[in-house]
Amino acid sequence: MSESSQRVAIVTGAARGIGAATASRLADDGFAVAVVDLDEAATKGTVEAIEAAGGRALGVGADVSDSDQVTAAVDRIAAELGPPVVLVNNAGVTRDNLLFKMTDSDWDVVMAVHLRGSFLMTRAAQKHMIDAKWGRIVNLSSTSALGNRGQANYAAAKAGLQGFTKTLAIELGKFGVTANSIAPGFIQTEMTKATAERIGRNWEEYVAERAAAIPVARGGVPEDIAHAVSFFASEGAGFVSGQVLYVAGGPRN
Ligand code: NAP
Repeated sequence: MSESSQRVAIVTGAARGIGAATASRLADDGFAVAVVDLDEAATKGTVEAIEAAGGRALGVGADVSDSDQVTAAVDRIAAELGPPVVLVNNAGVTRDNLLFKMTDSDWDVVMAVHLRGSFLMTRAAQKHMIDAKWGRIVNLSSTSALGNRGQANYAAAKAGLQGFTKTLAIELGKFGVTANSIAPGFIQTEMTKATAERIGRNWEEYVAERAAAIPVARGGVPEDIAHAVSFFASEGAGFVSGQVLYVAGGPRN
């Protein structure tokens, strides 16, 4: 495929975890991939893995909650890689605490990265999709959207992303753009490792305990989510929009 005809995808928070696996998967699917994360140097591993597999990638440092940084990042991606027509809003943080201990900052940071970040990235990228009359937006929600102890902030943000997604689907559908959410259950990444550490749990024991409560009897891996993103980003998924796909090894975990 020539560089000019290759479709371009952006994955945020793609230095590691679900974002890194998704970036690699979309590159395997034939997209040129912008690997966006807070620190450009941290994207090197993902970019090199994609290039080693024969793909095209560009590492871009940006805080998705900062409007100017988002505008600069999307402009740079369009100039250096091509106009982005796939956007995966994956960057995320947790600031877990029971409600009575949750600080203003715990609330604001989680809202800023998940909700404001997805809004800013989508607003900046959608014009390229509308010009192309084709686009795919995938937002990372969570089973926590259904409610999760210690995550009032995160649950609200992840439920908010589902409403955001459905609205994008309604507004952008006539331009050939779909928007869908993926709500992962327990996925083994640095994010869940940090949770285990914070509550003083041994990681292997924690994974085994979580797996025991999951119908398919294992914890998820980033590639499980990348596979679902790959479906939503595919040509054939053009009639699937405004959906929330729970990828959790069962109905809930
Ligand atoms: P992760 O390993 O913590 O990776 C998240 C990445 O996002 C990190 O590289 C982080 O960079 C980056 N990031 C954080 N804030 C950012 C910002 N403001 N701008 C740009 N990048 C930023 O997380 P993960 O487990 O792969 O999770 C990925 C997504 O899936 C998140 O939205 C998460 O909420 C969601 N999710 C995860 C699970 C799970 O079980 N793991 C379940 C449901 C949903 P730094 O390292 O520099 O902070």
